[in-house]
Amino acid sequence: MSSRNQQLFERAQRHIPGGVNSPVRAFRSVGGTPLFFQKAAGAKVQDADGKWYTDYVGSWGPMILGHAHPEVIAAVQAAVVDGLSFGAPTEREVEIADLLCEMVPSMDMVRLVSSGTEATMSAIRLARGYTGRDVLIKFEGCYHGHSDSLLVKAGSGALTFGNPSSGGVPADLAQHTMVLAYNDPQQLADAFAQHGDRIAAVIVEPVVGNMNLIAPTQAFLNAMRELTAKHGAVLIFDEVMTGFRVGLHSAQGLYGITPDLSTFGKIVGGGMPMGAFGGKREIMEQIAPLGPVYQAGTLSGNPIATAAGLATLKLIRKNGFYEALTAKTQALCDGLVAAARKHGVAFSAQNVGGMFGLYFAASCPGTYDEVLACDKEAFNRFFHAMIAAGHYFAPSAFEAGFVSAAHSDADIAATVAAADAWFASSK
Ligand code: PMP
Repeated sequence: MSSRNQQLFERAQRHIPGGVNSPVRAFRSVGGTPLFFQKAAGAKVQDADGKWYTDYVGSWGPMILGHAHPEVIAAVQAAVVDGLSFGAPTEREVEIADLLCEMVPSMDMVRLVSSGTEATMSAIRLARGYTGRDVLIKFEGCYHGHSDSLLVKAGSGALTFGNPSSGGVPADLAQHTMVLAYNDPQQLADAFAQHGDRIAAVIVEPVVGNMNLIAPTQAFLNAMRELTAKHGAVLIFDEVMTGFRVGLHSAQGLYGITPDLSTFGKIVGGGMPMGAFGGKREIMEQIAPLGPVYQAGTLSGNPIATAAGLATLKLIRKNGFYEALTAKTQALCDGLVAAARKHGVAFSAQNVGGMFGLYFAASCPGTYDEVLACDKEAFNRFFHAMIAAGHYFAPSAFEAGFVSAAHSDADIAATVAAADAWFASSK
C-alpha cells in the first residue's frame, strides 16, 4: 500500500508543476518522494503518514523559536480576529519598523514587503535609481530570490557580464549583472578597476546559505565595503537568511560591516510571508512616495505578518538567546564530525550562530568550486537514512540547515546517534 505522502505527491503533480510550489521541495536533488507535512510543534514536524521528525530546516529559516511557539500563535490569533488585511497603515508596522531600525543600526529607515525576493528586487531597483547606474555585481552560488536581474550565471571569462540562468530572463537584462567568485577580494577589486563608474551595487549573502554554508573571510567583506564606498556603489547585504539567525544584529553585527542597504525575510515574519529592506536615510528617501523609485504592495505590512514578526523579534532579544542557540548548533556540528571521524568517513561541518553546513569532504569548503567537489551521492544516502530514522535535513547537498531554540540537547544527541549508526554502516 502506498503511503499518504506518495498519494498526495501523485495527486499534486496533476495540477501543480512538479507537485510543489517551490522547486527544492520536490526532492529532485536527493531523489524519492517529498514529505508532505501536516503539523509541527517545537523542533518536530509531522508528515502526512503521521510520522514525526526532528526538523533541521525550520521552513528554511524562519522558525528560529521552533514551530507553533505559543506566544507567536497567540499574537497571530489575537490579530486575526481584527481583520486579515487593510491596505492602509497600522500601528504594528510602525512598531516593527522602530524595532528593526533599533536592532540593525545600519538602517535609518525600512520598508516592509511580502517576501525575500521582493526585498532584494526592490533594494536593487533602489540602488540603481539612487546611483543612476545599471551594473549589479553578485557572487557565484549566492541566491537572492528569483527576480530577473538575479537569475544570472557567470559569463564565460572572468569579469565578463552574465548570461541568464533561467528561461524567460532576457539576455539584455542579464548583461547588466556581473557574477564574481565569492571570497575573492582581488577579482572584486579588478571588476571595480575596470567598471567602477558603471557599478550601481554589490549584493552579497554575508554568510552564504544557498550553496550549503560558506563563511566569508573578513578580508573579502572588508574589500567589498572599501571598494563600494570608494566608487560610489551601494553595498547591499542580503540578510534574508542570516538576519537574526547568526546573531541579534545579524551578519553585519557579527562581522562589523555597515552596509548601505540590507534585506530581510524569513525570521522577520516569524513564519508569515514578510520581508523588509532598509538602510541609509539618503537612499531610502528615493522610494515613492518620497522619491522617484517605485515600489509597492497590496499586502505589504500585513497585520497578521507583523503580529507574528513582532512576537518573534521580541522573544529573540532575550538575554542569552543567541549564546544558547549557537552552542546547540555547534554541539550538533561537533557531534556529527566526531561520529564521522570515529568511523573514518570524510565529513566536516560548521555553524555560524543558528545556521550550519554539513559537507561530505575532509574539510569545510570556502569557495563555490570546493562546495561542488563535495560528495553529493554520499549526502543523498545520508539524507535518506536520516529521514528513515526520523531526522529531517534540507533535501539538497547545497543548502544550509537551521537549529531552533526549541531543539533540546536530547534532540541533538538523538540526531548525532542516528548519524553515528549510519556512518558506521556506510563505510
Ligand atoms: N535571499 C536569500 C539569501 C535567501 O536565502 C532567499 C530564500 N531562501 C531569498 C533571498 C528569497 O526569499 P523568498 O524565498 O522569501 O522570496
